[in-house]
Amino acid sequence: MKEHVIGIDLGGTKVEACLMDGSRTLLERRRVFSEPGKGIDAVIDTIVGLVQTVAGGTPVGAVGMGTPGTFDAEKNILFGSPHTPVYETPGFIARTGERLGVPVVVENDANCLALAEFYETCAGTFRYVMAVILGTGMGCGLMLDNRLYRGPRGGAGEIGHTSIDINGRLCTCGRRGCAEAYLSGPCISSRYREMTGLDLAAADIGKRYDAGDAAAAALLDESCRMLGEVLANAVNMLDLEAVILGGGVSNLPVWYEKTPAYMRKSFFGPPRNEVPILKAQLGDSAGVFGAAYLALRELGVMDF
Ligand SMILES: [Zn+2]
Repeated sequence: MKEHVIGIDLGGTKVEACLMDGSRTLLERRRVFSEPGKGIDAVIDTIVGLVQTVAGGTPVGAVGMGTPGTFDAEKNILFGSPHTPVYETPGFIARTGERLGVPVVVENDANCLALAEFYETCAGTFRYVMAVILGTGMGCGLMLDNRLYRGPRGGAGEIGHTSIDINGRLCTCGRRGCAEAYLSGPCISSRYREMTGLDLAAADIGKRYDAGDAAAAALLDESCRMLGEVLANAVNMLDLEAVILGGGVSNLPVWYEKTPAYMRKSFFGPPRNEVPILKAQLGDSAGVFGAAYLALRELGVMDF
């Protein structure tokens, strides 16, 4: 008999849920506003209501949930969610699980994305893969030897907060020169504004690049070089076989044109010319798919 599960992708603005069966077929999905500003009780009500709607009476064996930050199961608290501090309320996950009446498995949203994209683009081809998410921040999930690597405290993969310049730009985390302080969408916009006085989203800077704008060309070429260095650091340390780029900012074609050559220049050790930079395929569905996979693992249907 096939088991059914629910995957939840909890974001600062929206929460999405899906119903999936044991063969990873998507049966239903729905997205509503998460409204963290209304407090944790309202957020729990929203999640529970959404799960009931999406399940539509189908018995569910487990729920997987992707969240900002990291879940400390021992202390039963989320931490590292600075944009949505209300999710750090003690007991939030436990209360949600009690209301739902099934096991709830929680994982960082970047790890959920990495998991889903790994199965979509790499499973069967590569076993050691890093998925980097370029968006409002810079996150990362690691699949090492076909296993999701989260570290003993769930804190692995914070590549956005590895420094590429000790005298560099101040990051939101307080450190200088973090990769995120250059390569997140808002930081690309800030750097372009400092060069030109124009306030544009990263996607629009990408369009200007395509149209031959000199400032956009200088900025994005430098950004590709930075990204190449960051990725090479990870490849050199972990001997990765492939890198996946996801998140809204990963849609700029320039990353795939220029970053591979910069990355290869900084490789060390065995020949690694064939480490491809792959574009994520699932778009904003990745989070909710990865969350459902967590639940399928909980039921023993998947193994990673
Ligand atoms: Zn930082």
